[in-house]
Amino acid sequence: MVPFTTHMALALSQARDAALRGEVPVGAVVTDPQGRVVAAAGNRTRELSDPTAHAEILAIRAACAALGSERLPGHDLWVTLEPCPMCAAAISAARIARLYYGASDPRMGGVAHGAQVFRHAQCHHRPEVYDGLAAPESRDLLRRFFAQRR
Ligand SMILES: [Zn+2]
Repeated sequence: MVPFTTHMALALSQARDAALRGEVPVGAVVTDPQGRVVAAAGNRTRELSDPTAHAEILAIRAACAALGSERLPGHDLWVTLEPCPMCAAAISAARIARLYYGASDPRMGGVAHGAQVFRHAQCHHRPEVYDGLAAPESRDLLRRFFAQRR
């Protein structure tokens, strides 16, 4: 059993970097079964002109490329915001073992809200889900970002 270490601080720093790039501040980290960080990313939808370039997708892509595999069994994903339905589906497809997330997202979320992707009968892999990690910090980043845009 690997001792529990939170990687939300790194996910938050990725989110802050995203805000500096003018992107919605969401950050994600993938750790391997030994608890080592194998990928970290923040949103890059504007920079890449790509609506799928969410932090989770970019981190999963980088981790899969590093491993040379389309699946990440035993790997964990850490993200500052509740994943949207697209990212939840990617998390399931990648066979992520555990999902840790910060702020909940009643508007766009697809785990505890909306589509609740992991609850579908058609969802063939459900990660263990732990929410509310560093939630106030994650939420404050988003709130400040959107306040500045108004
Ligand atoms: Zn997403």
